[in-house]
Amino acid sequence: MRTVAVLGATGSIGRQALDLIGRHSGSFKASVLTANQNHEALFDMVRAFRPEAAGLVVRPKELPEDVRFCDWYFGEDCSERALLAHRPDDCLAAVVGIAGLGAVMTALAACERVLLANKEALVTAGDLVMARARELGKTILPVDSEHSAIFQCLEGANGNPPRRLILTASGGPFRTWSAERIRGATVVDALGHPTWRMGEKITVDCATMMNKGLEVIEAHHLFQMPEAALDVVVHPQSVIHSMVEFPDGAILAQMGAPDMRGPIGYALGYPARLPYGAVPLDFAKLTLTFEAPDEARFPCLRLAREALREGESAPVVLNGANEAAVGAFLQGAIPFGDIARLVEGALQTVPKRVIDSLEAVRAADREACAFVRKALKAS
Ligand code: MG
Repeated sequence: MRTVAVLGATGSIGRQALDLIGRHSGSFKASVLTANQNHEALFDMVRAFRPEAAGLVVRPKELPEDVRFCDWYFGEDCSERALLAHRPDDCLAAVVGIAGLGAVMTALAACERVLLANKEALVTAGDLVMARARELGKTILPVDSEHSAIFQCLEGANGNPPRRLILTASGGPFRTWSAERIRGATVVDALGHPTWRMGEKITVDCATMMNKGLEVIEAHHLFQMPEAALDVVVHPQSVIHSMVEFPDGAILAQMGAPDMRGPIGYALGYPARLPYGAVPLDFAKLTLTFEAPDEARFPCLRLAREALREGESAPVVLNGANEAAVGAFLQGAIPFGDIARLVEGALQTVPKRVIDSLEAVRAADREACAFVRKALKAS
């Protein structure tokens, strides 16, 4: 029996992880559950999964009688304190955004394995996170579907170094739209993802293709590959989850119906594969297509590559400005096209910093958010 912390339990990844844990309750116990502010949903999960500990960033007015049996933690650092006190075997880090960074670092210290769904931790502090994992001898298992796919392909590498990693992208809801139509897209348009069901922030990131840019940076850190060896191909059916090319030109692809329980389950059960009722692929009915990503219509992808090449605080600024701009877009404060414009402005304006500590990451993040807030006020 492995004990598992699920951070961000009420989000899309957290719910699907608990679905898997429920299906395999003889092998896994959800021992710590934390969420941001969705009290009622977390209370229901606590009733169903009976964890040792639970946490909420936003303290509820009161705790119902029937959830008081476990230890409760409240506040920004509720996940970190719960992890240190209860030390589960595994930690699924599924908090959205840079808010999850501190908990990822704590999980590396407190747990044996970190199942990483929080891509922003690697985007903003990849060198620090990977160095910490190496220093402590801890395992990071990717949960992002593309990185899980690459990880699975590399399991078949027999020590042969990859020549190229090819991340697939669905292309998002605006794949076939003109640049002008994309600039004026609404929140409803942006939240209509064609193949994957996910939370709001990542769904908007898919629509701008910033998500793929963040994933290129994430892959650079996870697999220690240079930016030039990280390719992106648009594959609207999302059946191939990503690919690895070897020096002889051979390519391994990982495929399956698009369902996040696949990559979550691969990390959770690793090295075992956990059945969850996945829909089998019917190849006779499949048509798989591929196209090059269009960085003119989706400038966020280009900006992310530029930030990765520049290094130090540039990816932090990219991420911070993007989080702030996506938040503003979801609130109806800016048009869709302004997300990329604000990120580009932040990358050009916010002074560069050396990233040698979490404090430096947080300072660069604050400066990027401040840039976006100021730009919003001025407009
Ligand atoms: Mg992904």
